[in-house]
Formats: sequence, C-alpha cells, structure tokens
Amino acid sequence: MNNKLKHNLTRYMDAGFPIIYINTYEEEKVDEMLLSSGSDREIYEWNETNGFIDFKTKMPMLEDYALDSVLNMLKIREMFERKTILLKGVAVYLEDAKIVSKLKGLARMICSGVDATVIIVSNTLVIPKELEKFITILEVDYPEHDEIRQIIRQFIKDNEMREIKEGLLNEMALAFKGLTEFEVNNLLALAYADDGELTRADLHLIFEQKQQIIKKAGILEMIPLKEQFEDIGGLENLKEWFARKAGVYKDLERAKRYGVDMPKGVLIAGIPGCGKSLSAKAAAALFEVPLLRLDMGRLLGKYVGESEGNLRKAVALAEAISPCVLWIDELEKAFAGIGGNNGASDVTTRLFGNFLTWMQEKDSPVFVVATANDIAKLPPELMRKGRFDEIFYVGLPVDEEREKIFRIHIEKRRADDLEKIRLSDLVVKTKGFSGADIEGVVKDAVKKAFVEGKGAVETQDLLDAIQNTHSLSEIMKDAIEKMAEEYKKRKFKNASR
Ligand code: ATP
Repeated sequence: MNNKLKHNLTRYMDAGFPIIYINTYEEEKVDEMLLSSGSDREIYEWNETNGFIDFKTKMPMLEDYALDSVLNMLKIREMFERKTILLKGVAVYLEDAKIVSKLKGLARMICSGVDATVIIVSNTLVIPKELEKFITILEVDYPEHDEIRQIIRQFIKDNEMREIKEGLLNEMALAFKGLTEFEVNNLLALAYADDGELTRADLHLIFEQKQQIIKKAGILEMIPLKEQFEDIGGLENLKEWFARKAGVYKDLERAKRYGVDMPKGVLIAGIPGCGKSLSAKAAAALFEVPLLRLDMGRLLGKYVGESEGNLRKAVALAEAISPCVLWIDELEKAFAGIGGNNGASDVTTRLFGNFLTWMQEKDSPVFVVATANDIAKLPPELMRKGRFDEIFYVGLPVDEEREKIFRIHIEKRRADDLEKIRLSDLVVKTKGFSGADIEGVVKDAVKKAFVEGKGAVETQDLLDAIQNTHSLSEIMKDAIEKMAEEYKKRKFKNASR
C-alpha cells in the first residue's frame, strides 16, 4: 500500500532533498515506511509528547523537550551527519521565525554535503516562505479499486466475518474511492459495529461518511444529485451536447479502444440565474457519476505553496474518485486579473498555470464543468483549444424557453393547476426575466394564493407576481447588454437553439 509514496520518499532521501513534508495524518504509515526503507541511517524523532527520541528504541535522546533545543543540537555536524530526523506535530512551530531559521540552517547544511534528511509529517500544510525552496511535499496516495477490494477482504478476514458477494464487494470498493486506507478501515469498522456484518445497507452509510470526510478536507464538496436534465427549461444545444458526451462517458473503455479522446470538460459562461449551475448538476446525473464542487475561493491559502498544494490535493482526490464531474463554480473569481494589466498576484498566476497544465494533460475520467458569469475577467489562455472541449454561452431565456421554465416550476409545486394556467400570457410579460426570476415568480404566486386561502393557483396570481418582480435585466441592463456583445464577439456556442 502507498507504494508510490514509499518509492518517492526513498528516492528523494537518496537524492539529498533536505526537507520532505509528508502531508498526512497517517503517522503510523510513515513510521512503517521508514522502518522498511532499508536506509542504514539512524532515525531520530521529535514529537510533542515524548520529545526527542531514538525512533527504533523510543529511548530519549535529550532531556530538554523543546524543539528549539533539539534543532540547536543538530547544528553540530557530527550530531546531524547520517541521520534522518522525523518531526511530528510541528506545523504550529512553522509559524515561529526562530524555528524556521534553524530549520533553514539544517537544510543549508544538507545542501552543502551533510548526509541527512529532515522529514516533517503533518496533516496541515504550512510552508514558510523562507523554507519554500528546501521543502518537497509528498501526499499519501489513494488506494485504487483493486487495492480497496483487498482492504475490504482483509477486514472481513481479520474480523472473521461472513464473505460478501462479488457484486457488493465491487460496489463498496467504488463507494470507498477517494478515501485513504486509514479512512476506509475506519468506515469499515463503523459499518461492522452496527450489526456485525457488511451489507448493501452500509453503502448509504459509506456515502454519507465519505461526503463528510471530503467536506472536512475543505476544498471539495460532494453534492447530492437531485437535478435532472428534465429540470432544465431550454438550453437545447447544451443539453444535446451533454447527451452526446454521456454516450462516450458511460462507455469509456470501448470509446478509448475505438480511438475517441477522453472528454475534458466544458466552460459554461453567461448571465446569472439562467441555469449554469443547474446544468453542472444535471450533467453528473446524466453521466451517472458523483458530482464534486471545487471551491475556488478556499483554494487560495495564506501560506506560500498552500494554494498549489490545495489544487494538487483537489485534483488528486477528484482523480481518485473518478469517473466524476468536477464542477468549478465562479471560475473568474479565482483567475481574475491574469493576463491583464491590473496584475494578478504571483500565487494566482502560478495556480492558473498549474490548472492549465492539468486541463491540457488530463486523461483521467474527471469531467470538468466550469461555470463563469463574467467572461471578460477570464484570461484568454483558458479559452484556447485543448483546454475545454467546448465553451457555451447562456443568455436570457427566449419566449419558448421561458414557457418551458414556467412549466417546470409550476409542475414542481402545483402540478394539478398547470392545465388551467395560460402560459402564453406569462411569457409575453416576462421578457428579460432570468430562469431564477421565473422560479421566484412561481414561488411568490404560490405563497400568495395559499395565504389568501385559494384552492388553486391561477394565471392572475402569476401575473401579479410578475408585476411585483424586478427582473434581472431591469436591475443590470447595461451589464447584460455588454456581456451579450462580448459573447457574440468571441463566437461562443449558444446554449439555446
Ligand atoms: P449564478 O451564476 O447566479 O450561479 P446560474 O446560471 O448558475 O447562476 P442557476 O443556479 O443554475 O443559475 O439557477 C438558479 C435557479 O433558477 C435554479 O436553481 C433553477 O431553479 C432556476 N433556473 C434557472 N435557469 C433555469 C432553466 N433554464 N430551467 C429551469 N430552471 C431554471
């Protein structure tokens, strides 16, 4: 397990990388890896509970517990030579300038020929600027399908449980994708604790817990699939395009063998409230895969390297869970200013570079649906061929689309009243309304009719609600016209027919 991590750790140690930062809370796994690494160096460990100890014998090496004193001692070349120094729980100390400067001193000694390595193990990533060029980050791999099957089998054996059928084993392995070995074992123990066996009923528990774990990690969120394509009124071109991609996506192996490229994803840009997010959600349901939402705002961390680390983590997690849809909401928020004169920060520019490279080279079944309101803020590189399979523009719904949107939302709340409502009257009165505006009108009308004690919602209730609504185009007329022009100029595909 975690073979790649172990391989990289050994390689980096042999190559003289001064500080290796293993980003994990599975400390025992790292211990195991070091024990079986075959290195003949002595290993010393520092942790807050035991102070400075010999890693193998656990005997104290220094009476003084303070990290500061330990780092002082290691400054003596003879003490440091041919050692691996393992530091646990030091993330908080990495905000202390004195500690950082001492670690830098040790890193410099290694760079000038001392045979040693400092390994930091922590589940939070704190990279002080002064140490940036000395640190190499390693992340724990996620086990793949067959490995997860093996973990489940081992768990069943260890607990002397009844074997489970092949079909359930595969479904469980799929449900566990994107969790570490440690997390998989924890969830298995939880599922086992309630009734002493693993059954189909546990899949639900696994899914819920996995949702929590992913959310706690902070950058990705697993969104439950409620919306279907039938819930989108209009946007026929976009829906048709998705349907064609779904044909490839649901039959990936065969499509790949046939020579079809792995679909990369789509950028959907346009007016707020007109169904962009709805399309991202419905796409995952159509593809029959999980939907992950990437929070671009949270990606930007406060430490150097943290943002890139976060992106790498998010991508690794999405790839581990794949096939999936990765929805990147409000793309322009993260990459505003790049390529323009107002100067994005170095961090955003680097992050953007990493994102582009990933999009360009990606051949994993992570289908990206990026949504953006303001395309003018997006850097042109993003729109070059090879990044997205297609770019769509979503405008205000035309007459026929507004009728469909009314139909969908009335049907959701008052299906029986639909037949008597004159939709064409509503359509005439709602030029310039967004899908979200129309949903608002239906909600208001239903609420009003209820309060007034009416048996059914009628056309007039909806017309009254329309009268009381300030539509999107009324509120931001100029901005919308400018946007529409921008899209025309760039010749994006229109999502509507
Ligand atoms: P934003 O950029 O503000 O997030 P968006 O384009 O992503 O806007 P959505 O979140 O998809 O907009 O739309 C908001 C709500 O409006 C949806 O939840 C849906 O109920 C309704 N809506 C918008 N467009 C449509 C549509 N074409 N068909 C049906 N409902 C729609």
